[in-house]
Amino acid sequence: MSTPSPAPSAPSCPVTVVTGGSRGIGAATAVHLARQGHDLVVGYRSGRAEAEDVVAAARDLGVRAVAVRADVVDPADVDALFAAAADLGPVTGLVANAGLTAHLGDLADTPVDVVRQVLDVNLLGVVLCVRRAAQVMSRRRGGPGGAIVTVSSSAATLGSAHEYVHYAAAKAGVDALTVGLAKELADDGVRVNAVAPGLVRTGIHAGAGDAGRLDRVTARVPMGRPGEPAEIAPAIAWLLSDEAAYCTGAVLRVAGGL
Ligand code: NAP
Repeated sequence: MSTPSPAPSAPSCPVTVVTGGSRGIGAATAVHLARQGHDLVVGYRSGRAEAEDVVAAARDLGVRAVAVRADVVDPADVDALFAAAADLGPVTGLVANAGLTAHLGDLADTPVDVVRQVLDVNLLGVVLCVRRAAQVMSRRRGGPGGAIVTVSSSAATLGSAHEYVHYAAAKAGVDALTVGLAKELADDGVRVNAVAPGLVRTGIHAGAGDAGRLDRVTARVPMGRPGEPAEIAPAIAWLLSDEAAYCTGAVLRVAGGL
């Protein structure tokens, strides 16, 4: 007769960092993940009140959550973001979502400081966050393993002519980063995937100085309407979940056909 094996210890809660969690897709994702039992660090750059609202909504759903101000282009801020997450437990997830478009127009008319900011936030910021996540999550380095989801854009393959080709280039960089890092960490317990939204109803368009862009470009979307942040969040959550256990290096387009 075999000895009964000891009862498995209760699995600990996933601990997930969401950058740009104060608004839009990041806020919807944070609340969706809270519903699924993730403890959360909600990163923000300037929207403290909005981030605190997201944290309150997450806590109402029964998880632990904290808002942390962190500019994703500042390595010390990125360290602080992950240090706050480590206070909740071993970090098992990252949603590298913070991004902006900042300006609309032809590249020739786009000021260099805007180009630099867009490349910094949308590409360097993601590189710094996934780099830190790899350091703390990698099993070979003593971490628990886990999953990273980067937030790309359909712009990465469409190019966004006359709007922001430099943003599209940054997002194409995010896709390459995702594919490469997925291979680097594939035997290390960490999956890396991207979600590429199309046109989504958030404040990003007003942030680029054109609140009417959403209505103007909706006709380009084959499904005939923009997406809602709550329609992007489940794709991100699925890629973070064990249901996606064999999925790494994928770029999942959630774009209404765009
Ligand atoms: P959003 O509503 O404007 O929210 C952007 C978030 O990013 C905010 O939480 C903002 O924080 C944060 N953020 C911006 N710069 C940051 C920085 N330097 N450091 C840290 N956080 C920073 O935008 P969204 O539409 O939800 O966009 C989320 C992601 O989806 C972005 O990567 C975007 O490129 C991508 N995306 C969006 C669309 C779309 O149509 N909306 C389409 C494709 C891809 P604060 O508010 O605190 O400054």
